[in-house]
This record gives sequence, C-alpha cells and structure tokens, in this order.
Amino acid sequence: MIQRPPKKPIKNNRQPDFDQPSIYSLSLSDLEDLAIQWGEDKYRGAQIFEWLYTHRVDSFQDMMNLPKSMREALDASYSIDPLETVVKQESKDGTMKFLFRLRDGYTIETVLMRHDYGNSVCVTTQVGCQIGCSFCASTLGGLKRNLEAGEIVSQIVQIQKVLDDRDERVSSVVIMGIGEPFENYVQMMQFLRIINHDDGLNIGARHITVSTSGIVPRIYDFADEDIQINFAVSLHAADNDIRTRLMPINRAYDIDKLMESLKYYQQQTNRRITFEYGLFGGVNDQPEHARELSELIKDLKCHVNLIPVNHVPERNYVRTSRDDIFSFLETLNECGVNATLRREQGTDIDAACGQLRAKESKQETGE
Ligand code: SAH
Repeated sequence: MIQRPPKKPIKNNRQPDFDQPSIYSLSLSDLEDLAIQWGEDKYRGAQIFEWLYTHRVDSFQDMMNLPKSMREALDASYSIDPLETVVKQESKDGTMKFLFRLRDGYTIETVLMRHDYGNSVCVTTQVGCQIGCSFCASTLGGLKRNLEAGEIVSQIVQIQKVLDDRDERVSSVVIMGIGEPFENYVQMMQFLRIINHDDGLNIGARHITVSTSGIVPRIYDFADEDIQINFAVSLHAADNDIRTRLMPINRAYDIDKLMESLKYYQQQTNRRITFEYGLFGGVNDQPEHARELSELIKDLKCHVNLIPVNHVPERNYVRTSRDDIFSFLETLNECGVNATLRREQGTDIDAACGQLRAKESKQETGE
C-alpha cells in the first residue's frame, strides 16, 4: 500500500477579478443554490442549465421560462459571453484553430480536431504557462493568469455552436492546450464536472483526457477524485538529467517522486496511465532511452504516446529521423511496452502539440 502525503487545501489563486463572473463557471448544483439564495424555486437552476447547454442561448433575456426579475438579476450579476472569437482558421485536414479574446483582453487558443470517431476539442486552462518546458511555445511569455472554469467551459460551448450548424457534437475533450491544468486545479475540476453532466453537454468521462507536466501534489489529489477521466503525464525522459533539461519542473518533482505518485494513482483508480514522450533529436530518442523508459514504467498499467517534436521558431530542437522514430517504437514494443505514434493534425495552421502560444498584449489581435 502506498500512502499519500497529508492532504492540504488547494490554492485557487491568480483568478480574474471580474465584477461579473461567467455563468458557465456554475455547476448545476451551484445554479440551484443560486436560485434558492435569490428566493426562487430550486428547479430554476435546472432551467438555466438547460438554456445554457441544451439550447445554447447567447443572452439571459432568451431564457423565456424564467421570471423577468430573475433574468434581470442574472444580467446584473453574471456574464454570459466570456469569449469573443477573434480568429477561426481551418486546416487542410479539417482541424480548426480558434483564437478567443477574454473579457480582460487576453487571448487564448482552442483547437477542434476532427476524427472519424468524432470531434475532439483541445482546451486551454491558463493564459500562458509558468512551467518553462524548454521545447514548448505556450510558456514563452510566462503566466498571466488562470482561467475561471467558465472560460474553459465556454471554449467548448463556442465550438459546439459552430458544430451545431453541421449537426455534429463535441464528443471528446483533451485538456492539452495552453497552460498546466494541475496549476489551475480547482477551476479545472469544476470545468470537468460541468461538461460531464448528463443534463448538459454530457461529455463522457471516458472521452475526456487531462495531461500534466507532473505536479506531484495534485496527482495525489486527482487520484482521490471520484471521476473516471483519462490521465496523461508528459514524461519525455526516463533520466533525471535529461528530463530536467527538457522540463525544469523535474527539479521540484523528480522522476522518483513522480513515479511514486503515479503508483498511488493506479492503486486508487486502477486506471491506465498514458505517458507522452516527445522525441527530441539527439536528446532522448535512441534505443537505449527506449529501454530505460520501459524499465521505468514496467510496473504500471500504461501506454506510451510518442510525439515527434514540433517546430517552435524560438526553440532549437530538431526532429528525430523517421527511421529513428520507428526503431524507438520497435524497441519499446520489444520490451513489452504498449506504444503508439501520435498522429499529427493541423500542422499547417500551427495547431499541433506545443505550438499554441498565448498572446501577451491586451491590444494584440492575433492576426
Ligand atoms: N501542461 C500540460 C498540458 C500540455 S499538453 C502538460 O505538460 O502535459 C501538450 C503536450 O505537448 C505535452 O505533452 C507537451 O509536453 C507537448 N509539447 C509541448 N511542446 C511541444 C513541441 N514543441 N513538440 C512536441 N510536443 C510538445
């Protein structure tokens, strides 16, 4: 039995300071509580939830079955349009990249990927990122602030509205856009509960994946959550020196600490873990690295997703050759590791993994 370190309260810091929070930040039970607090019947909460997620209205005034006084109170207290679409780009393969402006002027990116099994959305959880991975574009300008849950939910709602015109739905979600979701844990969990709810967007937990760079204390917390979503960890190296060079977060949470927390996760959930392993030419892409990796993860029920490095102009990493990619994959398979190569999408519009960048200036239009 692996024991977890004592639970500590989780900070919910660097949140935006808006007079009117996003209505999409409220779960169904929050909306019911709000109705009661305003002296209305509890079921009014469910009505609001339905207007937001089934009818996807743009204005509180369209919530026809609510009393006028309640629509006015909502208008005065909450925002229903936290995101403005600034740019919508479509790639040759159908991938779409959206640049959204937040109410305080910052912009974020969200990607819609179209697969034969459905539509998947890659959401952003922070304006920028402070993790500092040496290959990633999202961390270049540092962290500006965390998103509130509603700003994450809204990314899905906006894209669902685009898909509504085609009679399609968002069927899966990956929390792999800009930011480190485990550094915005409270809002990320609230987001998950909202999009997962049967009466709302109803995105099944098994169709949602969260990816972390390895924030160990939050891995313990996540292991104890009662939610069956898929879990991915950006590992990128099985050796501390190499991992620290790629991901400075490894100084705070090294591979031993990370592995211990993942064993705890598996003990608690019995769920398979996905390891993301970026192949960086001449850094971590040789057969000996593959053998070291398989040795490290041999006791976990897991899967490795190989990502050939995507070009980021400010970063000098080079791509592993095709031959080396396949011999890495083969070595893993020979060692009994279940591994696949990530399919690339949206490369022509810079929507691939690691290429999203938060725009820093408030005036920035993103064009
Ligand atoms: N902060 C989270 C979520 C980002 S997910 C995390 O670190 O897991 C995006 C994935 O793309 C991560 O595995 C990340 O390490 C990887 N990535 C970032 N930049 C990349 C690049 N230039 N090429 C390939 N993969 C990259």
